[in-house]
Parts: sequence; C-alpha cells; structure tokens
Amino acid sequence: MAGMITEIQRFSLNDGPGIRTTVFLKGCNMECLWCHNPETISTNREIHYYENNCIGCYKCVTVCPSKAHKRIGGGHRYFPKLCITCGKCADICYASAMVMSGMVMETGAIMREILQDKAYYAGSGGGLTISGGEVFCQLPLAMELVTACGREDVPVAVETNLAFPFDYMQPLIQKLQLVMCDLKLMDGGLHKKYTGADNALIVDNIHRLSACGVPFIVRTPLVPGITDTEQNISSIAEFLQGLSGLQYYELLNFNPLGASKYKSLGKPNPFQDVRPLPEKRVQELAALAGKAGVPVRCE
Ligand code: SF4
Ligand code: SF4
Repeated sequence: MAGMITEIQRFSLNDGPGIRTTVFLKGCNMECLWCHNPETISTNREIHYYENNCIGCYKCVTVCPSKAHKRIGGGHRYFPKLCITCGKCADICYASAMVMSGMVMETGAIMREILQDKAYYAGSGGGLTISGGEVFCQLPLAMELVTACGREDVPVAVETNLAFPFDYMQPLIQKLQLVMCDLKLMDGGLHKKYTGADNALIVDNIHRLSACGVPFIVRTPLVPGITDTEQNISSIAEFLQGLSGLQYYELLNFNPLGASKYKSLGKPNPFQDVRPLPEKRVQELAALAGKAGVPVRCE
C-alpha cells in the first residue's frame, strides 16, 4: 500500500523511548492555529519557496512546465498560483530554495528505511514512531507498518490527536508499545476555536485508552496566552488523576520553528512573533500540574 509521507527521520531521540525512526505522515483532521509543521496539514503535495536560499541560477525557469518561475529585471520571481506541484523545480534546485513536501511511498520502501536501524532499537528500547500530520488519517498504511514491524519485533509508538471514534482506532492502538496524545485545552469552546475540533471525543478517548491497557503519555503544547493558563494546566492534570496506563503528563514549550515554513508556503502565521515561555514559567506550570498527583515532565 502507498501513503503520503512528508519525512522519515532516523535516530530520533524525542519521539518516544530509545532510539527511533519517525515516519511523518501527511494530512491532519485538525488545524491548530499554532501548528509548527504546517506542511503536514494538507494531504496534497506542496511546494515551499525559501527565497533567501535562491542563488539566481534560473534552472527552475527552464524546467517549469507552467511558467511559475520567471526571470524579471535580472532577478528570479516565483508565482505560486501558477504552480501545478509537479516537483521539477525542487528536483533541480540545488540551493534548496524550492522544496517539495509530500512523497508517495509504498509500505515496503518505508520498511526498508525503518529496518536499517533495527539493531539500535533493540539496544535502546526504541523502535518506530508514526507521527504526522495525523496517523489515523492514513490508518490502512499505519496498520500495514505496524503489522510489518510486528513480524520484525520492532515496537511501534504513535503521536496522535485521538480525534476519531475509538472503535475505529482500537485495532491499531492495541498493537502499540506507546500512544503519545495531545490534550491542548480542557475548555471545549476554546479547543474548538483554536484547533477546529471539539474536545469531547478526545477526552472520552483518553478514558477509553486508559481502560484498554496500552501505555500512554498526554501532552499539552504551551502556547502563550492560549494553553498556558494555570486554569487550563491544572484542569488537564486533575482530569488525568488516577488514569491507569498514564506514563506521565508532558508540557511542551512553544515551538517557533514553524515560522519559516509558513512563509515558504505563503500561509499566514498568526503566531509569527510569539516566543517560547521562560524556563522558570514552564517549571512553575509543571509544579502546578504535579499538585494533582500525576507525574509531569517538560520539554
Ligand atoms: S533553481 Fe532554485 S536557486 Fe535557481 S533560480 Fe530557481 S529557485 Fe533560485
Ligand atoms: S513544482 Fe512544477 S509547476 Fe510548480 S513551480 Fe515547480 S516546476 Fe513549476
């Protein structure tokens, strides 16, 4: 089976236990306003233009079938509305000014990448992490990967928003080493406003995840002024109190690294001037969450 992938990252150390290979799937059913991987939201291929990398070689002008690249006034100009995402300019642009997000890969080809580091997984307690985008948007592919990894004794974890009916997700979930899921906001109205999705299903799914016995981690990205309020963090921590299978509650400081990606895709970025919280504030919020009696970690 073929799937749409944005990236395969080897030797990941922050996507679950041990040394891991992380496969980033393309396509997500939520649209969080602060997403730091905006290229993983759409299921379609997308072209990034990193203008500062352009060295004016004009090779793209020669290969582009839709005349989206032009030589004007002694300089290179790109017209994204003309682009048909054929990828020819990205293939030829050695300066990495034109970069394609999205490649179609078969399960077998993905597995060949994953198995290159099999020896490291065994020694470190690592394995495969399927991330995104959203893993359950490409469930048949994810299931094939999990089954193939099972045959090779490679444990699999997923990063998911859990915003799907639990019965749809359960056949995959019960084969996993670990589920890493987000609960961004406890207030349903705010969750809908900032992510486009209701959180009632997610909250219910965390209960059901706990009941099915698969270890899990719940994470909250700390978005200044939105998710980092004391009320939000303490209500999530109180909700997690006593849930069996919860390994820990993790607070992830705001990641501003998506800003250049928004610009390269020509998408508006409402968080372009937002910076991570000071470390002291992250520690204060972690201490607050810890009062609910759940183990807390920060990244
Ligand atoms: S191929 Fe790349 S570096 Fe050359 S002109 Fe086009 S965008 Fe610029
Ligand atoms: S992806 Fe294809 S159509 Fe789009 S700008 Fe590049 S060469 Fe032109």
